[in-house]
Amino acid sequence: MRKAVIFFLLTLSCFGAMGESKIWRKGYTFLNLLEDYHIPLKLYYNLSAEDKELTAEIYAGVQYQILRNKNGQLIQALIPIGEDVQIHIYKQGINYFLIFTPIKYFQKSHTLALEVQNSPHQDIFEQSKDLGLANEFLNTYKSSINFKREVIKGDKLAILYERKYRFGEAFGIPNIQATLMQTNKTPNYLIAYNDRYYNLLGKEVAGFLLQMPLSQVYITSRFSQARKHPVLKKVIRPHFGIDLRARVGTTVRSAGSGKVVSAGNKGGYGKAIEISHEGGLRTLYAHLSSIDKKIKVGSYVKQGQIIGKSGNTGISSGPHLHFGLYKNNRPLNPLGSIKTTRSELKGKDKATYLVYAQKQKALLDDELEKLTSNNTSATTQGKLNKSEPLKDFNPSENR
Ligand SMILES: [Zn+2]
Repeated sequence: MRKAVIFFLLTLSCFGAMGESKIWRKGYTFLNLLEDYHIPLKLYYNLSAEDKELTAEIYAGVQYQILRNKNGQLIQALIPIGEDVQIHIYKQGINYFLIFTPIKYFQKSHTLALEVQNSPHQDIFEQSKDLGLANEFLNTYKSSINFKREVIKGDKLAILYERKYRFGEAFGIPNIQATLMQTNKTPNYLIAYNDRYYNLLGKEVAGFLLQMPLSQVYITSRFSQARKHPVLKKVIRPHFGIDLRARVGTTVRSAGSGKVVSAGNKGGYGKAIEISHEGGLRTLYAHLSSIDKKIKVGSYVKQGQIIGKSGNTGISSGPHLHFGLYKNNRPLNPLGSIKTTRSELKGKDKATYLVYAQKQKALLDDELEKLTSNNTSATTQGKLNKSEPLKDFNPSENR
């Protein structure tokens, strides 16, 4: 065992070039991957229903790593699902194994401040070379600023954000912690607090308003992120959604208005529908028995519109609806996000927030100040360390 681990590490350090980075193609499935690398399909079929669900979580566009020996045989693969956990396939002797391991990344704080020349989106992208950041910035102001009408050349903005890096590359979506958009000398602050955005007074400004997909809600399995078991040091499998009890044939409705991005078979999720909503949100409805005729990729749905009927496809643990919510491919707990009105912080929570918000405000003001005094159009801080070692490939820590 030990020897095998050391061997992997040696292979990596001596012949690092044998590891390749690939992009998960649209429509590509976990079974396709096994077929392409001549890995016995039982590696998939022997998985539990929950683990089959997880293999269906791999999303198009994600970067994954393949390590092959000199005969071209796959000896390791690391495939992220979400931002925190990955599928780790490895070969030992003649057999293949699959485990779930935490994704190792390092996180860095960044600041960006600039004076608008073209549009916030274009200028942020040009300064940071980070399209994710430009998109996320627009998302956060979606419900408070009309960029086309209200923002003109010379307006200023500042962003405090965190970025994850994996294998020396930016990974996932930037996490905006505080941001300031100054339009016509009027400052608009947004401060992130418990995954939502508030103004300086503690009123929620951006936020999503979703409804439950079933009229009667009884949760049989809750949402969980991947965690490391404190004693066994093993990864506890995440459950990226909630399971709702539903007899086969129960009406399923869209949790929000949006555009259908997939409708059909989705591996371990069986018959499933995915709908994208504003603000980088996406909902998933899985194990359906049927999909409504009107639901086609590219079609628009209204909140509450019937999209299909619940069922038991793709798994064997009894009929239910699996309901998932993602923000920029990051799984969120749908329960924390089902809301009908924007919230306002209250009591002790509000007091804590107000102190925190003032600190964030001071940092943002500082950035704008620097921008003016430097008389340059932009400042960026935080450099990415390209030489970060490929720690991710060390499987020993997960045993
Ligand atoms: Zn589920």
